[in-house]
Amino acid sequence: MTKADIGVIGLGVMGANLALNIADHGYRVAVFNRTTQTTRDFHANAGELARRIEVCETLEAFVAAIEPPRPIIIMIKAGDPVDQQIADLKPLMADDDILIDAGNANFRDTMRRFTELAPGGIKFIGMGVSGGEEGARFGPSIMVGGAYQSWLRVEEVLKAISAKHEGTPCAAWLGENGAGHFVKTIHNGIEYADMQMIAEIYGVMRDGMGMDAKAMAGIFAGWNEGPLDSFLIEITAKVLAADDPETGHPMVDMILDAAGQKGTGRWSAIESQQIGVPAPAIEAAVGARSLSAMVDVRKRAEQILGLPDLGNFECGDQAVAMLEQALLAGKIAAYAQGFAVMSAASSENQWNLPMPEIARIWRAGCIIRSRFLDEIAGAFTLAPDVENLVLTPVFSEMLKQSEHALRLVVSEAVTKGFPVPALASAISYFDQLRRRRGTANLVQAQRDFFGAHGFKRTDGSESMHGPWNDGQ
Ligand code: NDP
Repeated sequence: MTKADIGVIGLGVMGANLALNIADHGYRVAVFNRTTQTTRDFHANAGELARRIEVCETLEAFVAAIEPPRPIIIMIKAGDPVDQQIADLKPLMADDDILIDAGNANFRDTMRRFTELAPGGIKFIGMGVSGGEEGARFGPSIMVGGAYQSWLRVEEVLKAISAKHEGTPCAAWLGENGAGHFVKTIHNGIEYADMQMIAEIYGVMRDGMGMDAKAMAGIFAGWNEGPLDSFLIEITAKVLAADDPETGHPMVDMILDAAGQKGTGRWSAIESQQIGVPAPAIEAAVGARSLSAMVDVRKRAEQILGLPDLGNFECGDQAVAMLEQALLAGKIAAYAQGFAVMSAASSENQWNLPMPEIARIWRAGCIIRSRFLDEIAGAFTLAPDVENLVLTPVFSEMLKQSEHALRLVVSEAVTKGFPVPALASAISYFDQLRRRRGTANLVQAQRDFFGAHGFKRTDGSESMHGPWNDGQ
């Protein structure tokens, strides 16, 4: 019997759809899942693609079903299960087989797995996949990290199953070892910030302007025709338009306001701090999700502190246009910060991350896909080594056009008591970034006062101490 071209372990939401996607592109795919019944059900529901799917009920049968050297995609719960899965697979695999961890791994785990697998002949790839269930089935964005030679061996199939933007595959090799999973982590951090800012604008419209879900759905649908055109704005319009089948109320009004998170947003914030390149919009978004989950504390705080009663936002076309521009400026902050973190991590880890390519493979398939990414790809193509996106001609101009709206929306929200943590962090970020003379001179003086840390003088001399501790 013809052996499979590739194997997929894990037939949950992502793995099952990825396997169908691979079969749909004419490849024979062997599949294995820890729970055998899931494998059988998967095959039974695979329709005409079932003929290209080899169902395996043991790991031994799975490995034997794939043509060596074998590419094997692991798409299971991230963390310890992946280590266990690799340990179980290792004795069955041969030199030059390639293991591809496609889950949402912490890139530090990926780096460790590279080191652990290096002495043997098995090759390893850490691969970020974005696009959720539909992306996995019909074309995700694929971010690959590992040896370039390993990439060349799986490039064809990964490009075939990836999303296409105007015919260009959204799959690329981004660098050695943990590069792919790191980029996926920052992708998710940006996604958190993007979603949070949209939710903050929704909050202003709902609570500050008294709009109902249907009215907001129309506004978001309209925004999806302009510079905010993106998957997240598109689905926000659809979410707001949907009714709860049980009560007939807008579905969004029936959903508990407590956001979940699985870790990638938090990892982005941690890595940005670790590397010393701030991403306050991402941090604010992670913090906002955490605070949202503290439902009981928020309930008690509202009882004790009450809500500020400081008036509402003005409504009308002009106000709505202002919100659109504010959201655009906030989005610039989130992407500028995410790309700046990637740039620093690239230097630290010698990845040489291709910024224009990253923007290009995010243009389709992934959750943050948008028209905006086309502009980012263009900006980085012209200035691949720029320190910050807002220093490029296109984005500095876009920011100049939209920042006033962000400032007005944030100041009005703060004055009236509506929470906008990510948007507020964005305007403060711009204001600090653009100011040549900041306030850290005072911080340096304080540090020197209590810790004799020294400081540099503005007139250029070397580190010295201030006069405050004389004689102590
Ligand atoms: P699901 O919960 O749908 O499926 C989890 C899969 O992992 C199942 O096949 C399950 O097997 C397997 N699994 C869990 N624990 C173990 C274990 N200890 N040993 C072996 N197999 C195990 O998850 P998803 O498909 O959503 O996610 C898979 C990976 O993809 C995760 O890393 C996730 O973060 C990542 N991801 C998810 C996205 C999404 O939108 N859902 C998007 C991008 C990445 P069993 O059936 O036996 O329980």
